[in-house]
Amino acid sequence: MDVSVFGTGYVGLVQAAALADVGHRVLCVDIDELKIQQLQRAVPPIQEPGLSAMIDDNLREGRLSFSTQASDAVIHGQLIFIAVGTPPDEDGSADLRHVLGVTREIASHMQADRTLVIKSTVPVGTASQVEAVARDELDRLGKGQLAVRVVSNPEFLKEGSAVNDCIRPDRIIVGSDDEQTRAQLAELYAPFCRSRDKLIFMDNRSAELTKYAANAMLATRISLMNELANLAEQLGADIEAVRRGIGSDPRIGYHFIYPGCGFGGSCFPKDLRALLHTARASGQPLRLLQSVQEVNETQRLVPFQKLQKLYPEGLAGKSIALWGLAFKPNTDDMREAPSRCLMEALWREGATVRAFDPEAMSECRRLYGYRDDLVLCATRDDTLQDADALVICTEWKAFRVVDFALLAHKLRDRLVIDGRNLYNPQQLAAAGLRYLGIGLPQVA
Ligand code: NAD
Repeated sequence: MDVSVFGTGYVGLVQAAALADVGHRVLCVDIDELKIQQLQRAVPPIQEPGLSAMIDDNLREGRLSFSTQASDAVIHGQLIFIAVGTPPDEDGSADLRHVLGVTREIASHMQADRTLVIKSTVPVGTASQVEAVARDELDRLGKGQLAVRVVSNPEFLKEGSAVNDCIRPDRIIVGSDDEQTRAQLAELYAPFCRSRDKLIFMDNRSAELTKYAANAMLATRISLMNELANLAEQLGADIEAVRRGIGSDPRIGYHFIYPGCGFGGSCFPKDLRALLHTARASGQPLRLLQSVQEVNETQRLVPFQKLQKLYPEGLAGKSIALWGLAFKPNTDDMREAPSRCLMEALWREGATVRAFDPEAMSECRRLYGYRDDLVLCATRDDTLQDADALVICTEWKAFRVVDFALLAHKLRDRLVIDGRNLYNPQQLAAAGLRYLGIGLPQVA
């Protein structure tokens, strides 16, 4: 099928590459000229396992192309994906400026019937709004005879495994009441869901809410586990034992019950705020979700609070090694990352951060520039040079195997604060290190 994709971020680009890879002809459009120039040379603007090769192959095979010309994309694609950003507005609601702007632009170039597929995460009612805006624009331009159909098709990929999630989806949600549109989407996605029950059809509004409900559920599990971890710490219990104990119950399972220094990224915090706003505006506030958000805000500061307790004389002049800047492994994305809360709090106190991340070093430089209290180190072990203590914020595989004797030798105060519970406390204690995880009992 001929498909166009507006927006070449995590969602649009990965989806476009995956669709091209199974044989669809995909044209991507972005307003970011530099991004498009790079993509035309097969250089992806983001780091995702498998993405680079997929773009390269499909560009060469002629199934994938990139442009800044919206008009070309509207002529090319019978199906047009909208995958632009929906950043939070000042009041927490999703800002639909880009989604509605793209809609107007698409309508203005339409010369034949088109199906718009909303991939962006949007509040309930957006599909109707998109349809109304497109209709308005078509009528205004005297093209009222053209049909525009709108499908809500929220995306569930996870950064760090985006390609795999796209080509092996657990489910594909299609929000549309129109039989012809449902058939179009079923044909488009057939290569990804050979078992038909992966395609779940519903109305637009339910599809829009499904995306927010999924993120709300996952965030709730994390915040509950983090609160239990903080309680375990007070009670002298081991949250990792508790996690294994409850995860073995198939009604609970092991997903999203890892205690840590909070969630971040471009989706959970933003989507929670947007859903909370929707709920308040509709007169049905979500009290539980409000707490989930508040718990996360404080949890991201737990590593810093532990440092504060350990240095009652203050952190000014201290040098803190930091492993992990990205909000999670296998991505360079630092949006709302717990590492940022830690660094910014340390800087306010006059401490220096010596940081390393396998992917997010340039992103960190882009965000914070050059400053005396930020040293970006070439390797994990370089961060330990002249450092007083080590904090771990991201559970990268590259941090799992560590020479604890070296840590004990290098760190002036022999102190490790682990925001992701990566290590065996006994091993660190045996090496002479003081080790504080999240919800772990102290080893004497
Ligand atoms: P992003 O910010 O990485 O990318 C958005 C892209 O859209 C940018 O490249 C931007 O230049 C482009 N754009 C903006 N206006 C445009 C226009 N008028 N025409 C063409 N391109 C335009 O965003 P993302 O992370 O890919 O997220 C996109 C949407 O998908 C958001 O609603 C997000 O909440 C949702 N989502 C994201 C993820 C994720 O893990 N990142 C997962 C599921 C859903």
